[in-house]
Amino acid sequence: MSRFLSNTELARLLTKMGSRETPLAFEIFAECQITKARAGRMILVHHHVNTPVFMPVGTQGTLKGLLPQQLEQLDCQIILGNTYHLGNRPGADILCKAGGLHKFMNWKRALLTDSGGFQMVSLLQLAEITEEGVKFKSPYNESECMLTPEHSIHIQNAIGADIIMQLDDVVKSTITGLRVEEAMHRTTRWLDRCLAAHKRPMEQSIFPIVQGGLDPKLRSESARQVIQREVNGYAVGGLSGGESKDDFWRMVHLSTDILPKNKPRYLMGVGFAVDLVVCCALGIDMYDCVFPTRTARFGCALTRTGQLNLKKAQYSKDLRPIDESCECSTCKTHTRAYLHQIATIETVSCHLLTVHNIAFQMRLMRDIRESIKERRFPKFIQDYMLTAYPNKDYPTWIVNALEAVNVILL
Ligand SMILES: [Zn+2]
Repeated sequence: MSRFLSNTELARLLTKMGSRETPLAFEIFAECQITKARAGRMILVHHHVNTPVFMPVGTQGTLKGLLPQQLEQLDCQIILGNTYHLGNRPGADILCKAGGLHKFMNWKRALLTDSGGFQMVSLLQLAEITEEGVKFKSPYNESECMLTPEHSIHIQNAIGADIIMQLDDVVKSTITGLRVEEAMHRTTRWLDRCLAAHKRPMEQSIFPIVQGGLDPKLRSESARQVIQREVNGYAVGGLSGGESKDDFWRMVHLSTDILPKNKPRYLMGVGFAVDLVVCCALGIDMYDCVFPTRTARFGCALTRTGQLNLKKAQYSKDLRPIDESCECSTCKTHTRAYLHQIATIETVSCHLLTVHNIAFQMRLMRDIRESIKERRFPKFIQDYMLTAYPNKDYPTWIVNALEAVNVILL
C-alpha cells in the first residue's frame, strides 16, 4: 500500500530534524504494488535526497573531472567520499580544522563516507584482519598502521558526512567456508564498537552492513543481527565482487525481505544500469559505484542500448551526439566524432564524458522514481529491458530476479 505522510506526521518529522533528534528521516511516497520497489525521500542534515538514488564516488573529496557546482547542476543530491584516502590525506586533523569535508571541498549537499576497510583490503596486498581491526603497512612511509572500528568512526566524525558506514570484515564474495562465517560475526561485533565510538549521533547516521557472503543462512542471520540495533538505515555489502549474477540477486532479494521497510537500504558497489533497474525492483533505495566515472576516463559513454567506446574508429566521422535524447551539456554541444578525436588523450574528454555518464545515471534514477510514483514501474522495467536487449536475449539472472518480484519480460 502506498503511504503519504500526513501534514502532521511531516511536521513532526521536520521538528525532529530541527531539534536534531534524528539526522535522517525517511519518508516513503509510493510503493510499487507488484515489485518491492519504493520511491521516497531521505531528509538529511545537509540535503533532501530523493530515492532510489545513485551516489557518484568522489575519491579525494572531488569527483574526477567535475566541479561541485557541476554536480549540483546535474541534479546530484548526495555523493560518496572515501575515508581511506581522506584519512591519509589531508587527514582527520586538517578536516576537523576546515570544518569538515563539506566546507573543505565546498559541497553543500549530502555526503556519505565508507569506512575505509574495503579500500584498504582491496588496495593493499599487505592488509591483515585481526579482531582489533585491519592491520596494514602505510603506502606512504611503510610504517605499520591499524584501522580499528573506533578509528574509522573517528575519521568519519571529522569528515562529517550525513551518512557514515560501520567498519566491516570484508571477504571476497567468491570465498566460501568458515572464513565467511567468522567475518559475518566479526562485522556485527565491529558494528557495536562503531556505534559506541560514534561522537556525533545527532548529525550523522551509521549504517550497519549485512554480510554473510553467498550463503543464504549466514546472510539471513547477519540481517537479523543488524536489525536488532537502533539505526537509521542499512547496507547490503560484500556483493558485486565477481560472484555469479544469480547468487548476487538472490542475496539482495533475501536481505531486503528481512530489512525493515521503513528505513533506507543501500546496496554497496553496484552501478550498472540494468543492475540498478533490477535491484530497485528488489527493494533497494541507494547505490554507489565508481564505474560511470571510471569508464568515462577510458572513453566509454553510457546509453540505454549499451556502452559506446568512443575510441573505436567507427565514431571518427559520426556527427551525432552520444545520445539524441540526452539533455546534458556534452550531448547538446559535442559530436561523437569530436569525442573520438580526444577520448583518453585530452583531460577535457574525461570531463565531457563524465558529465554525460553522471547525467545518464541521474536520469535513469529519476525515471525509476517517477515510474514508481506513477504506478507504472513494472511496465518501465519491461520497456527498459526491451531497449537494452532488443533481440530479447535477456540474461537468465535478470529473468529469474524479475520473476521473483512478479515481473515477466515481454
Ligand atoms: Zn549526454
